[in-house]
Order: sequence, then structure tokens, then C-alpha cells
Amino acid sequence: MTDDFELPEFSTREAQAIARTSFDVEGTASPLPSYIDRNFRIDGRDGQRWVLKIANAQTDPSEIEFECVAMDALATAGLTIQTPVVRRVQGQALRPAVTTAGAEHTARIVTYLEGTLLADAGRPTDALLADLGASLARVDRALADVSHPAQHRVLQWDLARAAWIADDLAHIGDPERRAWVEQALLQYRARIAPEIQRLPRGIIHNDANDYNVLVRGDRVAGLFDFGDMVETCRVFECVIAATYAAFHRPDDPIEAIAQLVSGYHSVTPLEELELELFADSVRTRLAVSVVSSAKTAAADPDHDYASVSEAGAWRLLQILSECGPTVVRDRLRAACEMSERPRAGRSTDALVRDRARHLGPSLSVSYATPLKIVRGRMQYLFDADDRAYLDCVNNVCHVGHCHPSVVRALVDQAGQLNTNTRYLGDALVEYAERLVATLPEHLEVCFMVCSGSEANELALRMARTTTQRHDVVVLDHAYHGNTSALVELSPYKFDGRGGRGRPEHVHVVPAPDPYRAAADIDGAAFAEQTVGATLHQAAADARRPAALFAESLLGCGGQVVPPPGYLARAFELVREAGGLAVADEVQVGFGRVGTHMWAFEAQGARPDIVTMGKPIGNGHPMAAVVTTRAIADSFANGMEYFNTFGGNPVSCRVGLAVLDALQSDALQQRAQTVGAQLQAGLRELATRHPLIGDVRGMGMFVGIELVQDRVTKAPAAEQASAVVQHCRTHGVLLSTDGPLHNVLKLKPPLPFDEVDAVLLLGALDRALGSIG
Ligand code: PMP
Repeated sequence: MTDDFELPEFSTREAQAIARTSFDVEGTASPLPSYIDRNFRIDGRDGQRWVLKIANAQTDPSEIEFECVAMDALATAGLTIQTPVVRRVQGQALRPAVTTAGAEHTARIVTYLEGTLLADAGRPTDALLADLGASLARVDRALADVSHPAQHRVLQWDLARAAWIADDLAHIGDPERRAWVEQALLQYRARIAPEIQRLPRGIIHNDANDYNVLVRGDRVAGLFDFGDMVETCRVFECVIAATYAAFHRPDDPIEAIAQLVSGYHSVTPLEELELELFADSVRTRLAVSVVSSAKTAAADPDHDYASVSEAGAWRLLQILSECGPTVVRDRLRAACEMSERPRAGRSTDALVRDRARHLGPSLSVSYATPLKIVRGRMQYLFDADDRAYLDCVNNVCHVGHCHPSVVRALVDQAGQLNTNTRYLGDALVEYAERLVATLPEHLEVCFMVCSGSEANELALRMARTTTQRHDVVVLDHAYHGNTSALVELSPYKFDGRGGRGRPEHVHVVPAPDPYRAAADIDGAAFAEQTVGATLHQAAADARRPAALFAESLLGCGGQVVPPPGYLARAFELVREAGGLAVADEVQVGFGRVGTHMWAFEAQGARPDIVTMGKPIGNGHPMAAVVTTRAIADSFANGMEYFNTFGGNPVSCRVGLAVLDALQSDALQQRAQTVGAQLQAGLRELATRHPLIGDVRGMGMFVGIELVQDRVTKAPAAEQASAVVQHCRTHGVLLSTDGPLHNVLKLKPPLPFDEVDAVLLLGALDRALGSIG
């Protein structure tokens, strides 16, 4: 949204002539300041003062009409404050006004309000602020009787549309200020934007700033400038007024806000949700304001646009960034005499303590000061104070945390039936059909299980039963699951702390890591040199493997994309040696790579068995193995495969809803476009931050490898942790991975969009800047 207005060109003489001829007002004109219109004060001969407003040519006349209708309604509403009264001559409020150059504008005249501006009245008392709140509530009540098509106008100052500032963040050059604005935008997108439809609506003045409010002592005397009126969330009326009033109480801005809110509430009770979102709404208004002036200043660098309120805006933005939404909410609730909100559940400290008491110490927790997360929505998580975080790591809640249609599918089926695969039911068959349809034709038989580990465990049994062999080839640093058999297949575990080293039946081949390889590697040749050589040696040792297990992209190995041709050749080699190729898609499947539904497809590889988990149920514990008819048949050797929970109707309905959401929300395409944008942004960061050794990934599976030196590639693990910590304090959740613990991994829920990418890049830029 832009507002490049040209002010209409009229001299004071011309203004006087318009007043006289069009409005029957004889008087002297003097110019008044205005943002978008040409305004004059007309001092009438009879002592009456007026404002002549000549609208700029871009203003839609219907919006001016809307203003007039609203001012009429207020003039007759019996308000205790003054509002401008529209002068009508022969019933007409609007008259054409033509410049000497021939441009036609719309002119009108309203009464001039006398009094002291709130901006000039010094420190506002509690009583004045409460009266301002109450006065605005009465204005809004009167505006409820107005109905005009222009109330639905699209306005950059409508906080319900504040998301536009994402396109103009670059105008804020100072990193600290930029961080405050970006954090405000993040909270707006996570907390306010999704609630816009639930907030009570109404026509509001929408700009009760300190230059539009007149005061007399402890009372509000008048309100003018109805040029930003719009139908929107009614709480924004109070939010905007509170924002500006707070500038005049720099020592206790939150108290000032609370006084104003209590005044509004005493006339029109505010709802809990409105108070819940109040502090972040103020931050939003501040962000809109500072971005708007930065943008205007950039368009006209010769003009000094630094407004008086700008310093106050930055200060308040900082205060609100630091205090969190509940501090303000609690203060507002108290001011409105609402009961205190009981704290739900245990404190973070109590949870750390009590968790240690009854849960195994081998459970880990993220961050030195752990986060208590109480709810999730799409790409956001919310802590106990309802502060929102952008989740950049959870690839399980694939279509978005608590995606509404997935939740509905789960609840509906759970309320109807949950049982096992020994009864016939539609959901299981439907799900198998839908899942198989996403895969290459030869993969046609499904087994439903409950976790990625169970899927790999079953794949392992299948491979062993089918080939009648025991050994397995795995890639270095791989993780395939938490069972005894799978820890043995996971160098990430058996080579790590507490690991027992490589078992004899496991053959580890080097990870196909283009960044850490000694020289440029050709995928197929690398497969020959590593997998081929290992298979050869295994045959010589009479230890022919049952399978090669490979993640299509390496997760725990450090978000590695194998070189083109690697996976395809590796799978062929194992097949040529009589083993099976197992693609572990537990991390990367279901469209995350953007170009394809499955990452092995993006690698041009043909697996015999595919295992899937994590994203398959969007957080519901389900997983699957899909294989060929021949392998499935040879596994059916008489021993039943039964899995109590695998394939239950609730899981299958959830799985179907995930597939539907992927399609309806076009998430695979989004992974591709946003992933490309993100990687491009990261490459740009790499030009400025030498810590970044490598940026890699596919779609929304991205790794940033940090190094102390780009030549030696010495890992920068501590710096990677510091980046993670810094980003957390700025509302962005990431984590590290890789054998050297120096890879920042990004694999967010797929609703993560272009603006999230901008916010993530901003946070990373500052984090890297702060430790670089
Ligand atoms: N395979 C891969 C590639 C994984 O990343 C994981 C989990 N991190 C698993 C298998 C095991 O899945 P689960 O934790 O669901 O048992």
C-alpha cells in the first residue's frame, strides 16, 4: 500500500474565494498543516471559524462523503465533546474546486474546533486519559449508526491490514530498531492477524492521535480529522489513542495505556481477547508508523520527516518488545476490574524440577533456559506468556501446528470409532490408496505403523526375510531409529556418547557430503568408490548385505544434499549385489523438498522400500512402510504382522487430512518457492558473514554450516549454539545438527511463507552480526 499524494495547489486568496462562492462564508484564509489534503482556516467576518478542506485528487469522493455522513451522525449524537460540523449550502456539503492549472478537487467546509491539542497539553493526567477512552467509546457508539459503502475502504492505517509493512522493512536501517519492528510484525502475524475475524468490529475514527484530540483541563474537549475512518476491529480505536497518549507519559507508558483503556471499558466493555492482544496491537501501530515514515523519508530524502513522535515511538516499541504481552494484559485487566488470570500449570522451574523427578534423565531439552510451550498454530508456537515464536525446526507439524482440518478429522474419527486392522474399515484402504498414488508405480503395498523407528524396524525385517541375509550398509552419521536393531544401524548413535561402536553386521560408508569432501565429487562415481567398494569387500568377507539404508537427504548428518546421481547409483549397486534399497523418508518426505513429493524422486533414485514417519500424521503418532508386491509377498512367510495401533481409523483419517491439506494449501509448491527465496537470502548473508561456510538444501530442508575459517572449515559449533540462543530471544526457534554440531537446521512447518523467511533472515543476520 502506498500513499503518494500530491497536495492540491491553492493560494489563500483562492481559498477565500472558494469559501465565499461555494460555501457562503466570507472570511480570511490561513493555511493549516495537513498530511494529504490542502486545509485552510477561514476566520469568518461574523467571528465563526471554519476549516476549508480541499481533498487531493487521489481521494475517492465517496470517502469524503463517508466522512461527512459520519460527522453529521456525531453532531447529532449528543456527545459531550465537540466534533466538526459539516456546512451544507442548499443541502450540498461537497463542491468542486479547480486549480489555476485546471485540476478539479473536492472542497468542503467544517467548523473549526477551538482548544488545546493533547500534544501541547503537557503530561496527561489519569483522569484525562480515562476521559479520552470514554469519549472515544461514545464516538464509536455513535458511529455504529453510520452505514456507507466507503466504510470498507482499504487503508494502510487500518491495523487489520498491517501486514504490508513486511514489504518495507528494508527502510529501517538501524539493526536494533529493525529487530523491534520485525518482532512486532512476527507477533502481529502470529497473534493478531488470525484473530481479526473474531474481534468485535465497528466504524472507528482510527486516528485519535495527540494532534487530533483537543483537551480542556482533565477533560477531552474535541476530536477532529475523520480522514482515516474505517470499519475494522473496534479495539484499534483505543489502541491508536493509547499509543500516542503513552508518548506523553514516558515514565509510565503502560499505566497511561491502562487508564485510557479503563475509560473506554467503562462505556463499552472490552472483551478478553481485545485486552489479550492490546500490547501487540500497540506495537503494530508503532511499527506501521515508523515504517511509514521511513518509507516516506526514503522517497524524499531531502525532506526532514523525523516527526516529533518518532523518538517516543522507538522508546515505546522497545519497552513493549522487552516486557511481553501478559504484563500489559494483566495491567489492563486490573484497570478494567477484571479478575486476575490464573496461571495455567506449573512454572518453567517447577517443570524442570518435577520432570527430573519422574522422567528418565536421558531425555534432553532445548535451551539452557527451557521453553514452556503451551499452544501452536501453523508455523508458530506460543509460550506460557503467549509470546509467539516462529518455528523453523519442527518438520513433524508439517502442514502447520494444529492444522484445523487435521484436528477436525482426528476429533471426528476419535468420537466415532478407534479400533485395529482386524476389522474392515474404509479409512485404512482409502489411506493406503491415496498414499500409494503419491509414489512410483512399483511401490504399491503399505504397512501402517506408529513411528519412524517402527517403520525402519519393519523395513529391516522385510529386507532380512526377503534376502535371507543379515548385514546392512548405512551412511556415516545416519540415524534410523531408537530400537536396539536401529541404534545398531545408526552411526549417529553408536559412534556417539554412550554408543558401543559399530557392530560387525553393519557396514558404514562415508556420507556423500559435497562440502566436507576433499574435492568436488561426482555423485555416481562417489557411490562406486564408497558403496561399491564396501559391497565388494563385504562379498569378499562373505557378509553380503540385506540392504542399504539411506536417508534421501541426510538429517542428523547435517542437512546434507548428496551430489546428483549418488543415491540412484548407490541403490543400483546394492540391488546388483542382491540387497534391497531402503529410502528413509522419515525426515524429508511429503513434499518438503518442493520439486517432488519424495526426496528420493528428486534424486532420481529407485528404492525397493520407503519408510515414512514424522510429517505423515502432522504430530499424530503414525508412520508407514511402502514396498513392492514381491517384497511384501516374500515377507508374508506365515508369521502374522500385527501392530495394535498401526493403521487404526483415527490415524488413517489424520493421514488423509494431511494429504488433503498438503494439496489444498499448495504446500509443496510453497516449499519450493519459499525454500528458493530462503536459500537465496542465506547466500546473500554468506557474502557478509564469513562464519557461513555453506548453505545447502532442497525446498524447506535447509542447512547452514558455520565454520571458523572457510579454508580449514574448522567447525564453529559454539557460534552455532550462540546463533540458536540469540534467535530464540528474538522469537525464532532453530536448532543445530551434524556430526560437528555446527549446522543450523531449518525445516519449518510448511505454512512458513515469504514473510517468515524475511523475519528468519533478519534474525540470523543480527545473530551472526552479534557474534561474528
Ligand atoms: N529416521 C530418520 C531419518 C529420523 O530422523 C528419525 C527420527 N529423528 C527416525 C527415523 C525415527 O523416527 P521416530 O523418532 O518416529 O521413531
